[in-house]
Amino acid sequence: MTTARPTDLPETPLSEVLLAEPRGFCAGVDRAIEIVERALVRFGAPIYVRHEIVHNTYVVNDLKQKGAIFIEELADVPPGATLIFSAHGVSKAVQQEAAARGFQIFDATCPLVTKVHVEVAKLSREGYQFIMIGHKGHPEVEGTMGQLSDGIFLVEDVADVARAPVTRPEQLAVVTQTTLSVDDAAEILAAVKARFPLVREPKQQDICYATQNRQDAVKVLAPQVDVVIVVGSPTSSNSNRLRELAERLGTPAYMVDAAEDLQPEWLADRPRVGLTAGASAPDVLVQAVITRLKAMGSVAVRRLPGVQETIEFPLPMGLGNKSMAEFAAQRS
Ligand code: SF4
Repeated sequence: MTTARPTDLPETPLSEVLLAEPRGFCAGVDRAIEIVERALVRFGAPIYVRHEIVHNTYVVNDLKQKGAIFIEELADVPPGATLIFSAHGVSKAVQQEAAARGFQIFDATCPLVTKVHVEVAKLSREGYQFIMIGHKGHPEVEGTMGQLSDGIFLVEDVADVARAPVTRPEQLAVVTQTTLSVDDAAEILAAVKARFPLVREPKQQDICYATQNRQDAVKVLAPQVDVVIVVGSPTSSNSNRLRELAERLGTPAYMVDAAEDLQPEWLADRPRVGLTAGASAPDVLVQAVITRLKAMGSVAVRRLPGVQETIEFPLPMGLGNKSMAEFAAQRS
């Protein structure tokens, strides 16, 4: 007697899951989520958050259940409320409007994004114009471009460089979104330098350590597997870049927001599966994907060697400096 194969199993049994290292949460995402959780404990629900605190569906839904309300327009926040800016940062106009409306504000902007804002403000005072390499409409780009009222020009690709309306090429600096493809950004930067030889580059590149490390890990992972699965939400810039990078390296790659999104046909005749996660994707989602892959027949999970990240960012004043457990106990 033959037993029917469950329909969600690939034809060729999976043999191995390789885990990229590092993957998942970065220090900026950890800090941003902790700021919302601490504000909920300290002040009680609701806590208002401008934009998704980080671009991950699971994280946002979890915080909604705990009492966070995500808004895009400050007019939707009642007077006297506590408001948190997301990890992506905000423009000067948003900062000023929030202050004028009298909210209690906590800023969860990643310190590595703030570093770019500070650089833009400093060089602007010295008379510099800017080219910003980034993706139009991304909140981090809006926040960084919005540090100035003019003199900052967005370029999304090499073709845009020729169109940038720079009027002071001798006083021009370049800044980038923190979550770009390292390789794309280098190509665009080369085009900027070819057109504007005197352009000033950041002392340290703006693409952050987490983006760099996760992309480096995919470069190690992709050649060793038949398919790459990236855990991340569609809005997550750095997760999208991981999927694109794997494909560019010749390995089919798919992004999943949750384990249920995994399609068995992606794994057909692809017994070695590589798994990574964007900087805003929590480990609980990675574990759920591993559980599903195991149920599909993968026999082993192997963690690849990689960079160990130890970076931590301090919390803003007013949210306690004890551990989250001690802080919650103290407040209850
Ligand atoms: Fe900060 Fe980089 Fe994480 Fe964005 S991806 S929150 S810039 S560490």
